[in-house]
Amino acid sequence: MSRVIGIDLGTTNCCVAVLDGGQPTVIANRQGYKTTPSIVAIAEDGGRMVGQVAARQAITNPQHTVFAAKRLIGRPFDSPQVQHALTTMPYRIVAGPSDDVRIELRGKAYSVPEISAMLLQEMRVVAEEHLTERVERAVVTVPAYFNDAQRQAVKDAGRIAGLDVLRILNEPTAAALAYGFGRGEEKRVVVYDLGGGTFDVSIVHVGGDGVFRVLATTGDSFLGGEDFDDRVMAWLIRGFEVQEGIDLRESPIALQRLKQAAQKAKCDLSQVDEAEVQLPFIVSTSPKGPLHMHYSISRGQLEKLTEDLVDRTLDICMHALELARLEATDVDEVVLVGGMTRMPRVQQAVEELFGRRASRNVHPDEVVALGAAIQGAALATEIDEVALEDVTAHSLGIATAGDGYEVIVPASTRVPCRVPSLFTTSRDEQETLRIVVLQGESGVASENELLQDFALVGLRRAPAGDVEVEVEFEIDADGIFRAGAKDLETGEQARVQVLGRSAFEPGELERAAAESAAWLEERRAEEAHEGLRQGLQALLVEVERAAREVEQWRADDPDAVDTVIAVRHAHEAAGRALAADERRALAEHLVVLEDAKEMLDAMLRESTGARR
Ligand code: AMP
Repeated sequence: MSRVIGIDLGTTNCCVAVLDGGQPTVIANRQGYKTTPSIVAIAEDGGRMVGQVAARQAITNPQHTVFAAKRLIGRPFDSPQVQHALTTMPYRIVAGPSDDVRIELRGKAYSVPEISAMLLQEMRVVAEEHLTERVERAVVTVPAYFNDAQRQAVKDAGRIAGLDVLRILNEPTAAALAYGFGRGEEKRVVVYDLGGGTFDVSIVHVGGDGVFRVLATTGDSFLGGEDFDDRVMAWLIRGFEVQEGIDLRESPIALQRLKQAAQKAKCDLSQVDEAEVQLPFIVSTSPKGPLHMHYSISRGQLEKLTEDLVDRTLDICMHALELARLEATDVDEVVLVGGMTRMPRVQQAVEELFGRRASRNVHPDEVVALGAAIQGAALATEIDEVALEDVTAHSLGIATAGDGYEVIVPASTRVPCRVPSLFTTSRDEQETLRIVVLQGESGVASENELLQDFALVGLRRAPAGDVEVEVEFEIDADGIFRAGAKDLETGEQARVQVLGRSAFEPGELERAAAESAAWLEERRAEEAHEGLRQGLQALLVEVERAAREVEQWRADDPDAVDTVIAVRHAHEAAGRALAADERRALAEHLVVLEDAKEMLDAMLRESTGARR
């Protein structure tokens, strides 16, 4: 069986790891970086760019470059988060066929799982190149606070990428796994995970015996580094508007440049007290001629602009403690995860809250992927010293009369779980019974997220109240919901018919998966071609050198002279094939030249032996 890789599908960066010789190890991409920007772009010719390559061209191609897609995944188009993104993202976001989100790039509307699949695919290629073997299976992490629809969408992304996603793992749980793996210590650990787009906090009991028990988990799936960037960006835009009377939000190129500059200033301010924002020609034409931006921003200013964001994370930490019925002082270790935890104010605030210094032993960008790799190895039974007990971050319940909400599975329930609930018919001869499943904490049904609308169909015809159906609400280990139902009297399964449409049109997911597979094949073929080209180029040099040596040492041996003549013919032919660059021919010439090289080497060995 192939190995299982662990993928951290981040808002800003992705990271991939694998268990190597019993140790989780992050795999660097071809450029040598251990993380890859979560950016996808489509070039004018329709070609796909992912990661650094996509990041580099973002400024000149803002409308067709997608970043932070994770903020949109699994969300309905009319959600406030998507509506907010419409005003801040330079790429075009449109409504999909079932009120889902589509991103329009070069005239084609992509679903968000399709965009995420490109990132997963890229990470898979990074792993395959390093391992020099095919990878088919993965554990993919998501914020613990992701709801059912978001998890489902990440699973869909895995399907499109042709990866068998063995488990959707919560990011803070993954971090706790990586932190506690192989330490043999018993501790209560808080994982504070502030990434590019989401905030999660989990309190995990790490047992010395390898059992990781999540005590509580909560968060906000729309709070992260992007919001910090937005604050800086808004500050720059406001300053410019006051100074020049021009609203930079109207230009996608200016927005893209501002976004990058804001993020850079924010990151710089983690190291220095004052950062410069210089954007020459931010307006290329105005009545005053071209305009440039040159501002400086202090660490104090950044802290002021983002104070409420940091405070929000602290409130959420307090809530997590409440859920776990613990005091801040009960915590033995604070683990910081996510790029945003490099901001000194964030570190300071968290350390103040828990009254202890945060652990400096884990790398905030890599720890989640490492945990995913450990879980992957455990699922593939490569290791058996790890057991995970996770909980659900959201309550799950049903809509009741008058916009009411009845919780069936409360937040912090251990998953996987199955909770039965009894439903009774209310009319004579009632054949169907509709159940609306919601996720959330509000007592008012319409304030929670719709999870699934289903009907029990084909019920036994009987007087009102005579048919009792037991509905089993199941949350699996991926945190994904399923319902099953049976008639209590007859014991027969009731048919559950899911109403409402899925985010995909019939056959669309399969089509996307086929396209993705074709892309991967093409990429693999291109890489194989490039490998052949480089191999042949190197071999041509080596063969030429060996031929010259044979000529020198075996000039009086007619067999050797004949061999060299034959080899030179083959060498010339291979050189021509290289120029023509035809894949089949390259492969054939490579084999011929390898044989030639072996023959020459053998002759040289013979002559060195003879000289001794
Ligand atoms: P992640 O999703 O964990 O990769 O976190 C990415 C977020 O961390 C982005 O918003 C980055 O801008 C932010 N980030 C990365 N490095 C720093 C830094 N040195 N200081 C502040 N924020 C940072």
